[in-house]
Parts: sequence; structure tokens; C-alpha cells
Amino acid sequence: SLMSLSKEQYGYALAAAGIAATATLLYAYYTSQSQEPKPPAEEPAQDEKPEEAAQEEAKVEETSGQPKIEHFGFVDAAAEEQKSLYKKEALKRSKDICDVRYQLAYALLRGGKSYHGQVKVSFTLNEGADLDDVFVDYRGEKVLSLTVNGKQVTEGVNAFRNHRVYFPQEMLAVGPNEVTIRFVSKYVKDCQGVHHYVDKDDNEEYLYSQYEAADAHKAFPCFDQPDMKAPYTLLALVPKGWVALSTCNLVKPEAPSGSGEYAESLSKFGLDGDEFTSLFNGEEVSAFEFGESPKISVYLYSIIAGPYVLHESSDEAVKGYKVPLRIYSRKSIAKWVERSKEEYFLATRCSIDFYGELFSTPYPFDKLDQVFVPDYNMGAMENVGCVIYRDDYVQRDELFSDHKRQGILNTFLHEISHMWFGNLVTMKWWDDLWLNESFANFVSYLCLDEAKGLEKYESAWSIFLDESFWGLSEDQKDTTHPISVDVIHTEAAQDIFDGISYGKGASWLNQTFHFFGREVFKVGLKSYFEEYAFKNTELKDFIRHLSNAAKQLKIETDLEAWTDSWLKTAGCNIIWHEIEEAEGKITKFIVHQRPNVNGAGNRLRKQKYQVAFYNDKMKPLKIVDVETSETQESFELTELIGKKAAHAYHINYKNFGYAKFKIDEKSLLAFEQQLGDIGLAISRKQIYNILFDMLRSGDISGARLLQICKKQMVEEKDVGVITDLFRFIIPAVIKSHIPTEYYQQCHHDIFEIILDNILTSGSIEDNSTKHLLLEAMLTSAR
Ligand SMILES: [Zn+2]
Repeated sequence: SLMSLSKEQYGYALAAAGIAATATLLYAYYTSQSQEPKPPAEEPAQDEKPEEAAQEEAKVEETSGQPKIEHFGFVDAAAEEQKSLYKKEALKRSKDICDVRYQLAYALLRGGKSYHGQVKVSFTLNEGADLDDVFVDYRGEKVLSLTVNGKQVTEGVNAFRNHRVYFPQEMLAVGPNEVTIRFVSKYVKDCQGVHHYVDKDDNEEYLYSQYEAADAHKAFPCFDQPDMKAPYTLLALVPKGWVALSTCNLVKPEAPSGSGEYAESLSKFGLDGDEFTSLFNGEEVSAFEFGESPKISVYLYSIIAGPYVLHESSDEAVKGYKVPLRIYSRKSIAKWVERSKEEYFLATRCSIDFYGELFSTPYPFDKLDQVFVPDYNMGAMENVGCVIYRDDYVQRDELFSDHKRQGILNTFLHEISHMWFGNLVTMKWWDDLWLNESFANFVSYLCLDEAKGLEKYESAWSIFLDESFWGLSEDQKDTTHPISVDVIHTEAAQDIFDGISYGKGASWLNQTFHFFGREVFKVGLKSYFEEYAFKNTELKDFIRHLSNAAKQLKIETDLEAWTDSWLKTAGCNIIWHEIEEAEGKITKFIVHQRPNVNGAGNRLRKQKYQVAFYNDKMKPLKIVDVETSETQESFELTELIGKKAAHAYHINYKNFGYAKFKIDEKSLLAFEQQLGDIGLAISRKQIYNILFDMLRSGDISGARLLQICKKQMVEEKDVGVITDLFRFIIPAVIKSHIPTEYYQQCHHDIFEIILDNILTSGSIEDNSTKHLLLEAMLTSAR
């Protein structure tokens, strides 16, 4: 999944919400000189619901009250006592139970309150299983009936308690068992379960599920842990006019109520008589019957329903693609999706090809639907065959910078990579959720950079830089933790989505890729996917496959020991160079490193990084590889002695290394004058970030950094660099690292520079960049 907004997306959200109204003033000035689109309209914050819309929602709820059905039933007897499934319980359960299979039916009613379902769960109890402790997780409203191996459980039995449905011991047996549960679940408003949304434009209702980490059991009773993989069949009954989507393709076209096909599907799913149909109060109903899925984890099985609009590609390469590729969105934003859809399809098709090759494993599922969903509080979720994305990723009439568009496409590539790493092969328990995310993060940038067909996108590693520095910044705090963590229960699983698991974890994989080489990655992943397809793994399995590949390719470093040094301890290293020169030649080149103070068990680590030797035009003339050791705090690069000195040394060129790198004084002086002359925008962006990091540890003064920014920003045209400078670095320097008495003056200077040197010179052509600069000017003006 993708849980967090990137820096830039966050920035855009702020811009839209906060300054739009006052920006008009400046626009008035600015548009008198050039053509500028209107500023974005101010939108109400998400939690402030306009009164009208709230009333309309209430209306919908009233008019579709559900008929009362006479059932005996269970409500959860002690719901608040235990909310989580503990790791030790999960381990025991997956030892006791195997061969799980689900047959699931839903009546997805209008109104936003609740929906009905029936699930038949077949499973085998292993020899030695604890028969008095067999349960499925369930956090719904009501269990209407419970049948265990053909016998109905009576009302007197306290079967539903603590978010679990227990099966009476005397009704179970070692070997195959089958239980059927008729249930009512609640729609949710917080995207944890089956989310219900009413579109404010047309009053249409939309549903989508979000289960990760452990919310599948809010939708239906199930073994809600990732290592109890199972095949699923699904029948979804929805109001006529809706579509239903899930992991698999339909086995037959949607069937209207009253048709023979409809009756056939219901009887196949054991839904007696008209009971399910009558829940819809006489409204016409459509049945969507989905084929059986491969064995997958329950958190990846999905249901999406509503009057979603189908978007198909007109590109022959997509239409004839090896698996069907489709995009869906709600009606009121469909026209904007139409405008961008071919770009999404291109990214989808090219990434599937790229990953198939990189992992030596073809796309493992039957189809890929991608759905833009409203009101979603996360970035995206990689449901098998049916990914969902927050729908403000769709560019409407507002400006998206090229950088932002690429960031969004990168989200597509991130989710699609999970189809292999995460979905085909899945972590046993949430301990390894970080690996799932770090891996998707790293390979998605690799894909954006390298995939055939995506050559025009060039921002991959620039966006990745944000992740690295996010990780590095978190890693220097005293709250840092090892990349690999112990997750004791399901509720703790949600907490690990932070800069360490996403940013540092991905940087570690980036380092692994460059230290051991692409071939190790390729060979290791091939055997990994071969051995574990449709199964579960732990971190050690992944490492073992990479390690075997490294041995096979005769690489000396012991990958397993190396990995331990990175994953089991917290904190980063600090690395800097001591360089002496005489008559234009290097006479001494010493690499120093030490563990940063924060981080339990922090230590020296072996890694490789590059140093670029720039000439006086700031062109890299030579690239040198440096390999640090796990034991030596200082060592000399004797091979550099006598070599031509550089005008500036760019430490950690291309960002393959992960450490707090410090720039030497000579190079600092060169960057002060000529940072803007460096040709690669990503290199400029990286140096600004290193300088900012040095500022925070007191290795450079705020005044000096601000001076560099002011001098260099005049010529800067790259949106990635401009974003970092004006949204993060300059404001932070002025606020925290400059004496307050100069505060006014600093802002005045920034205002003048942007106005005189950048905007009026006409050197910036990209509208979104102009927009960004106006915003910065406005901040300075206040
Ligand atoms: Zn993810």
C-alpha cells in the first residue's frame, strides 16, 4: 500500500487549502504581465461537511431502510475486551488449520448503514489442533446464523465474542470441516473495512474495501492473517446500474434478478429462496459472479461496487495485452480520467513487462483493474487484480507539475510491483511489512527509470531522493529504530509505516542492488518467486535467496552477515573526506566514518558509494568507487595519491550510499559559487539536501546556507530543486537558523529575488513552477 503523501503532494494540499484566497492579489499583479491560469478554488477541509450534503446523505439513509428479517442471532458479547490478533495466536492458528477455502456472497445494499453476507469456510483441522480454540475473526454487526458441519449452532451458545466467532468444540473434528455464517456488517466511514461514500455532485453511492493490515474481518468472518492463504469465490448482489469488481474476472455476464442465470448463481452459493434479493426492497438487482481466485492472503481480496465508469484504452498495445487492463472511476470525475487514461495505461503495460523480466516471472494474475476511489485516506492499495487509488491523483483543471505527475505514475508502478512481491509471495506476519513496502518503493523507481516505453519520464531518482532523506532524517532522531521490527499484534502493524520502513528500507535495498549488483538481484528473485509462488515467507527466506545468488556469482561479501548489520541495528553512519592537495595533485585522501550517536546498537557498516570529481565547469571528469569497512573508522584511498585534484568532490554521487555525508571545505567553497552550474538537476537537489542535513548538525551555518540558496536560485529552473528550496529548505533555514532580527530582511530578499530575477525575467516557462514561486513570494511578503 502507499500510506503517506509525498512532500510535494503535502505541499500542494497546503497550497490549495491555505493561501488560495490571498494569492489572488498577487495573481492580479502577475497576470497583468503574463497569461496565468486562475488560482485553485478553495475547498472545504475534508472533515467539514457542507450542511446540504450532510442532509442529502441522511435522506439516502432514510429511504432505503432494510426489511426486518426474523432470525435468531448473535451480537458480539464482549467486543471491547480484545481488539487485536496476537502474533502468537496467529502462529498457532496457522499450524492448527490448513486448506482454507471461502465461498462468499454479499447483498450490497444502498443507504450506507449495513450490508448482508454469507460465507462458507472450508478448512482442515490438523492432528493435534486445539479443538476448543477454533475461531474466525469477525468485527461486524451481527451473526444471523451459524452452521458447523451441517448443524446449526443455537442461540444459547456464546459463539460471537471478542471480535471472534468460535465454533463449538463438539461440532468439530480433526480433518475437513465446513462452517457457514450468515452475517450483517456495517459500512465504514474511515476506510477500514467496506467504505461507503455519497458523491456530492450526483448523490450516487460508491463502495470499496480497504483491508490492510487486518480489517478484512470487518467485512466478513475470516482467518484474518496473511499466512492463511486461500482461494475465494464471490457472488455480489448489487442494485441494478452498479458494477462490482474484485480479484477475478466474472464467470458469466452480470445477471438481472428474475433471470435464470441469476437464480442459478444464488443457488450455487447456497442462498435459499428470495431472502437475499428481498433485502433490496423490491429494487431490481444484478448478480456478479466471480471466478475462483488463486491462493491469496485475505487482506488482498477486495470488493468494489457502485456506478463506477469503465475506461478502456484505445491503444492497440493495451487492447491486445496479455491480460485485460481496465480503469474505473466515479461518474463525476470520469471526464478527467478520460483525459489522462492513456498515460496510466502506458505506465501499467510497461511496468508489467518490466517486472515480468526483472523477476523472471510473468504477471501472476488474470487481469488488472485499477480504480480511482473517492474519500480515501491513503495513497493506494494493491488488492490482487484490483488496485485502488485515491481519486485526487486524477488531474482535474488544476495544475500538476511534471514532477507531481511522475510521482503519481510512480504510485502505479509501486502498486503493480506488489502483484509479485507482496501478493504472489506474501509475508508470513506483519513483522516483514516494511520489506514489502521498501521493496515496492525501490523497484518502482527502478522501473520508472528503466522500463521500455517510459523513457520520457526522468524524475525517478529525484523523487527517490526525497525518500532517502526522509529516512535519514528519521534515522538521526533518538526515536529511530531498526528497519526490521517485531510486530506483536495486528494493531501494531499499522504503526510501522514511517520514514524508517519506507525511506531507509528502500535506501538499504538501493545499496544492496549497487553493492552486490543487478545480477544478484535478478538471480535471487527468480529462485525466490519460483520457490514461494502463492506461499508465504519471512525476511530470512528473501535474504537466503539473494545470498545464494551472491555465492553463485562468486561475490566475496557474506550477504547474510552484511544484511544483519543493516537491518537489526538502528541509526546511520557519518562519512566525510579529509583531502590534501599540492600543485594540483592529491597528496592525501582519507575516508572517515563513525556511527551517529542515536540508534540502538549503531555501528559501522560496509557500503559502497561514489565520488564524482568535478572540473572548474562543474562537469564530472571522473567517478571513484569507495567501499567502507565494518571495522575501520578511517582509511586512506592510496590509489588516489598523485592523481589530479578535483575542483569539487561530490560525495555520494548518484545517491547509492546511505549515510550522513558531509561535504569537505574545498568543495563547499566551489558549491557556494557554482552549485547552479552542475548539469544534473538531481545532483543539485542532492547537494542542497546534504547541506541542509549538515546545517542541522551544526556543520554549516544558516547564514552560509541561505547565502548559497540566494545566489544559486536565480538560475534554477528544475521544479524538483525549486520545490525543495522554497517549500522546505529556505523556510526552515529562516525560521530556525537565522537570528530573528534578520527575519524581515531575509524574507524581503527572497521576495525581491523571485520577483526581479526569476519571474520577470521570463526564464521559467512551466506554469506549475511559476505557481510554486508565487506561493513562495507570498509567504515572504507576509
Ligand atoms: Zn505498498
